[in-house]
Amino acid sequence: MTEKAQPIHNEYIIEWKKRVLDTKSASFCGAKWYNASMWLNAGWTASCFHNPIHQIDVEAIAINPKALHNTPQKKQERKMMQEGEKPLNCQFCWVMEDVDDKNISDRVWQSTQFSEDDLQKAFDNSHEDDYNLGYLEVSFDRTCQMACSYCNSSISSTWAKDIRKNGRYEGLITDGRNHYVSPSDDVQPYEFPNANSYVDAFFKWWDSDLHRTLQVLRITGGEPMMSGHTWKLLDWLRNNPNKSKTRIEMTTNLDYDHETLMRFLDNVDRIDQEFWIYTSGENLGAKSEYVRDGHEWERWRTNLETVYNSGLIGNVSLMATMSAPSTDGFVEFLEFLLDQKRSRGSEWLRMSVNPVRFPTFHNIAVLPMEMRLRYSQDILNFMARDEVQKLFTTFEKEHINRFAVYLEKMDVPHQEYEYDMAELPKDFKRFYTQYDQRRGKNFTATFPNLADWYNSL
Ligand code: SF4
Repeated sequence: MTEKAQPIHNEYIIEWKKRVLDTKSASFCGAKWYNASMWLNAGWTASCFHNPIHQIDVEAIAINPKALHNTPQKKQERKMMQEGEKPLNCQFCWVMEDVDDKNISDRVWQSTQFSEDDLQKAFDNSHEDDYNLGYLEVSFDRTCQMACSYCNSSISSTWAKDIRKNGRYEGLITDGRNHYVSPSDDVQPYEFPNANSYVDAFFKWWDSDLHRTLQVLRITGGEPMMSGHTWKLLDWLRNNPNKSKTRIEMTTNLDYDHETLMRFLDNVDRIDQEFWIYTSGENLGAKSEYVRDGHEWERWRTNLETVYNSGLIGNVSLMATMSAPSTDGFVEFLEFLLDQKRSRGSEWLRMSVNPVRFPTFHNIAVLPMEMRLRYSQDILNFMARDEVQKLFTTFEKEHINRFAVYLEKMDVPHQEYEYDMAELPKDFKRFYTQYDQRRGKNFTATFPNLADWYNSL
């Protein structure tokens, strides 16, 4: 008899949620006050990576750099959360909670980062107040040497090159955000080291007080190691010892030459701050190289070894980005992860799992239900092993199990815009046919388990 996917309910977190969040309102989330993502090349922000982005007012930041985060839209959503209403932009969390009201959605995980005092202040005070950030995820620019299948030209310069050279991807009718239509050159009007008002405001805020108040600065991209602004910040940190206690985190593909990696590690060695790394992975070898175009599995593995052997990085985590094809082969990757943990301990490569929802045809919704159930069951069988239960952290078990539940139960990937569910598999095929031609790849040879289904589309 097959086991049903069930959410894992962490008793401590459930109790914390009841005591700290539910006593405020049914929709309260600390991320709306103390957490932000920013794409400074384009001047965009969001409260977390599940939220759609919105534009930062360039005139407002010239007067007050805190307006990078405290935008009118966020202030309005804070008001809604104080009153127990659910902002539409936070749908990722509401869908997760609707699947099972005991599901621990990201609004809970996000909120646990902040002190109970700070959360209380956020709830009690006016939604119009400006708040200093506790956590900031920042992209200085979109420069990246890779062009992963589910990414796009607004966050990868290599994706922009593909569209500039080969033109738009044709015939995709469910992609409401138009990911593959233009090189999106408008999102990066400035090239380093030319002036960019948003980056300038960031460094002004950083220099005045952000370096004191921020607990975590997470640098993303593009690929942060390819951005001149990252190296400028590392220079600041090297030249201002003992000034800041902010932990620096890098979301990095770890897929570049040895010299770049050693330059980074040499900086880390000379800076007081604690550094963490978040890298990506969800498939092995050829499957991984297919989904993440530009990635070289062996180079990534070698760089991971170099990071581990350096002993300089406080924590190295792994982000699994689950598109439909990467679901095939995920369990094999979990075996690799288990093997890493056997020799390096539970905390090494702590994995989070996030389904791709945009463009919608990359979501697991394109797969036939019998395949989804089989993948879900394979994950559950893996997770049921005693050794896995012992070596994977509670956070990982929660995330991986949640993905098994998602595979089994998810009906609607999102409701941000309308799309025809029946068109998703067709768009999937239209996309990967063009991706194969442009990138010299072969979907069916790489994913033989999906070949019959793919050929039938
Ligand atoms: S409720 Fe969810 S989607 Fe909204 S800000 Fe919080 S974590 Fe992000």
